[in-house]
Amino acid sequence: MIKVLLVEDSPADAAHIMGLLCEVERETFAVTYEATMADALQRLRAETFDAALVELHLADGPEGAAIAELKAYAPLLPIVLLCTHASRADAVEALARGAHDYVEEGDRTGELLARSILYAIERVHAAEQLSFLARYDALTGLANRTTFRDRLAQALARSDRSQTPGALLLVDLDSFKAINDTQGHDVGDALLKHVGTQLRRFVRPYDVVARLGGDEFAVLLEDVAEARDAGRMAERILEAIAEPFVVGDIEVYSTASLGAVVFPFDGGDPSTLMRNADFAMYRAKRQGGGTAAFYTPSMGVRIHEQLALEHDLHRALAHEELLLHYQPQVDLESGRVVGMEALARWQHPERGLLPPNTFIPAAEKSGLIEAIGEWALRTACRQRREWADAGLDVGRIAVNLSPRQLTGNAFVAVTEKTLAEIDLDPRLLELEITEALFLEHDHATVERLARLRRLGVRISIDDFGTGHSCLSRLTTLPVDGLKIDRSLVSSAYTSQNAAVARAIIALARELDLGVTCEGVEHDGHVAFLRQYGCDVVQGRLLCPPLPADEIERLLAARGTTAVDPEPPPSDGPELLH
Ligand code: C2E
Ligand code: MG
Ligand code: MG
Repeated sequence: MIKVLLVEDSPADAAHIMGLLCEVERETFAVTYEATMADALQRLRAETFDAALVELHLADGPEGAAIAELKAYAPLLPIVLLCTHASRADAVEALARGAHDYVEEGDRTGELLARSILYAIERVHAAEQLSFLARYDALTGLANRTTFRDRLAQALARSDRSQTPGALLLVDLDSFKAINDTQGHDVGDALLKHVGTQLRRFVRPYDVVARLGGDEFAVLLEDVAEARDAGRMAERILEAIAEPFVVGDIEVYSTASLGAVVFPFDGGDPSTLMRNADFAMYRAKRQGGGTAAFYTPSMGVRIHEQLALEHDLHRALAHEELLLHYQPQVDLESGRVVGMEALARWQHPERGLLPPNTFIPAAEKSGLIEAIGEWALRTACRQRREWADAGLDVGRIAVNLSPRQLTGNAFVAVTEKTLAEIDLDPRLLELEITEALFLEHDHATVERLARLRRLGVRISIDDFGTGHSCLSRLTTLPVDGLKIDRSLVSSAYTSQNAAVARAIIALARELDLGVTCEGVEHDGHVAFLRQYGCDVVQGRLLCPPLPADEIERLLAARGTTAVDPEPPPSDGPELLH
């Protein structure tokens, strides 16, 4: 049933219109009739209507103010004007002042009146929806970024007047993209709605919760007595989001990172506050996700440096400023080169040649390590192929892997594809992984290594003996060799570390694992390692890491004639006599 307010000063016309509307079959209209605008406004104060049918000269009045008055009482009331053929132009003008449609006297049928009323209702509804969408997020119904900024500006002004602090919390889901990609967009949408509901659950009715875009939410808390209150709220929010959430028969696990600022201390305007909250959020993400961080003034400086480094590193990769140096690995018994380790360098345009410890950690934190790792793999394999084509046998090419590269299945596929494209025998590739990778005891990671190994790729554990060694696990891991860390080697022949190095070598032999010792700098190291049965050595004593062309010159100077044999290689150039 549609409730219509009819404002018409001629009782005869009013009766006629009511009669027409009664005839309409597809809708029922309940018409309330008032003869003057003053009475109509009085009525609107007490009752709500779905639409108004208003005689034009009443609605517009001599001053043209009546529509404005009507709209002041009921801003969203759909208005249809009743005009004559002669006053049609005035009716068209009145549309600009807020009426929604008009019906001329001569055309009036029940059907036409009904259609016009329904059309006016529909127009108001559509306009309302548009203005809703301009200010709110359609998926969650929460305020959007524009509204949030407005509300933040108002809250700042209020906090200034009342001298009570407030807080702004930014909440960003940690693995939303992965959930969206693996579980589908319906699950992703459901998760976003769920997070919106959870956030609303914790705040007071007048606090603002917004979705700023993507998987980023914001909470505006006014009148927080002290920063501790905001901290407690942050913890409760993170706990609530971390609870598993069920969609259909799927259980979704997600965590969020939270960055917080307290105003007016951390910024006096919306832009500064949002930026500083972003810095805090960045810090929380860096802590590994699932945590909250409050803004501190020094954060901005450090994060700027970190961001600048990441930005430069992106550019470095795109502009080919990264390169690989190669360090030979030498068989102790034969003195021949049996492998080459590829080590990343950055030819920085201002800072010169940078070692990996200045940029690999930043690449790991930012996720750029995946791209850099793929680049290193491809470049090293290509170099190995070139050497093979030139008839130079340097044994296996060894590439370092970051744990993060093995967190998904992509790397195994990338390795397979790279080897196929470059047409390199997988047995000529060795991947060096760190012990830390096994700490997590992740079955999927171990399976990925096993798959690489089944391809024919050799797997070795780098920096072995630096603290996390879990010797008993060595028997079950899909690895072929150990690289004993240089800290053990350098002090081995003088201290008790000798016992450790000796034990590792003995254990590796027992398990049929190859042993490479890195950081060999003195003849004394070689003598010791030979005595205890180490297979392969690598270090400055033999050769430092060098660019590919220098390696070629060095090996050529040794007068070695090398051919590319079937692996495992055994007659590479000699470096040790
Ligand atoms: P790592 O894999 O243990 O590499 C051996 C490191 O020992 C290299 O340092 C090498 O230059 C250095 N070294 C070689 N001979 C000697 C020696 O006689 N004495 C001493 N004290 N050191 C020697 P570099 O090149 O600075 O690399 C450091 C680390 O950076 C590497 O340690 C590796 O973990 C990482 N890294 C290098 N390239 C890559 C890469 O492409 N990807 C990843 N994820 N990590 C890489
Ligand atoms: Mg290594
Ligand atoms: Mg190492």
